[in-house]
Amino acid sequence: MAVQTTAPTTSTSGAAAPVDLGPAAGLSCRECGERFPLGPVFACEQCFGPLEIAYDFGGHDPEELRKRIEAGPASIWRYAPLLPVPADVADKPNLNPGWTKLVKADNLARELGVTGELFVKDDSGNPTHSFKDRVVAQALEAARAFGFTTLSCSSTGNLAGAVGAAAARAGLRSCVFIPHDLEQGKVVMAAVYGGELVGIEGNYDDVNRFCSELIGDPLGEGWGFVNVNLRPYYAEGSKTLAYEICEQLGWRLPDQIVVPIASGSQLTKIDKGLQELIRLGLVEDRPYKIFGAQAEGCSPVSAAFKAGHDVVRPQKPNTIAKSLAIGNPADGPYVLDIARRTGGAVEDVTDEQVVDAIKLLARTEGVFAETAGGVTVGVTKKLIENGLLDPALTTVVLNTGDGLKTLDAVSPTTGPTATIRPSLDAFRDAGLAH
Ligand SMILES: *Cc1c(COP(=O)(O)O)cnc(C)c1O
Ligand SMILES: [Zn+2]
Repeated sequence: MAVQTTAPTTSTSGAAAPVDLGPAAGLSCRECGERFPLGPVFACEQCFGPLEIAYDFGGHDPEELRKRIEAGPASIWRYAPLLPVPADVADKPNLNPGWTKLVKADNLARELGVTGELFVKDDSGNPTHSFKDRVVAQALEAARAFGFTTLSCSSTGNLAGAVGAAAARAGLRSCVFIPHDLEQGKVVMAAVYGGELVGIEGNYDDVNRFCSELIGDPLGEGWGFVNVNLRPYYAEGSKTLAYEICEQLGWRLPDQIVVPIASGSQLTKIDKGLQELIRLGLVEDRPYKIFGAQAEGCSPVSAAFKAGHDVVRPQKPNTIAKSLAIGNPADGPYVLDIARRTGGAVEDVTDEQVVDAIKLLARTEGVFAETAGGVTVGVTKKLIENGLLDPALTTVVLNTGDGLKTLDAVSPTTGPTATIRPSLDAFRDAGLAH
């Protein structure tokens, strides 16, 4: 396919670039700690470890910072002082994601035997109906800062739609890559925003490998791949989930959080976000546990956790939870560290349990989750049953996407109670009148 490329205004050679990404002070290697200037780079030149954003938050009075955040917009931009974005980010065309509902799930709590407080952080309320709008919004600002004019990604479905929509609104070109066999809802949502959408004959890990090759090739020159060369910026978007949960709890840490795992990025950045809130004095420093959730058909991190391994052995995914179907998760080892350090765990559930959990959440709380939400709710149930999650404490379960995008998962077992002629007799005969 012939593809127009545009060179970015900054090189990847490591020269210090005068970019304004707010409190982001540079990049640092997660393995060896080496520092690098801000740029579209994602791997350490010394050890090939992953790079993440290092901040200079300056001196903040916690009370003032809390007030400033509370007075901010009802989106992730209320946390701009803690994100790698310019201070005037809210004035630029973007989808203003975030500030989604934290649903107090009393009915679900009763069903699960939870005696403490149970909440569902419902990220289906984002502009493209998944948590991916949070991460793409950060990557978009980095793309603007580095002068990229094409936004791209390898996606398990939701990311493609989030990139397409963000690029459309920002006036950038987009070209996104997905496995060819995704759910119709995800394919249509990835295509409708008018960008280029390419189905790859293979699974997500094949798509990801392809994108890594494309980045190293002149064909991909000048492209901002949100989850590859912009990954350090992209990843920071997940911190906003941690910020919102704590602020919505009244500036309080939850005791336990259950987070879905695809690449593991989201889980690691939720931990980073909680640590920052503690360090900045915005919440009281108390212990919290982070639990990871996978589908059995793609459970490399759960398998490693249970086996006591530090490394994650890749798997070939086979599950209806396609948004989480990453067989070789980049952040897997870091997820293991966090689950073990905080006293959490990583658990998995079968596809059947995923479907049951989607219906359980819908039936008890009126929240229709995609398969990833079925995974977290199903894993929460299992963790309570096997005694790893304390039902007496405050627990937050993440729903990261919208059930309308994964109708295939529930449609075989969900439908009308009866189909009848439009007559009272027929209704009476159907036995539904109470
Ligand atoms: C991408 C995604 C996740 C988690 O992704 P990570 O790669 O682990 O950050 C969770 N839920 C949904 C619905 C997703 O699309
Ligand atoms: Zn390094």
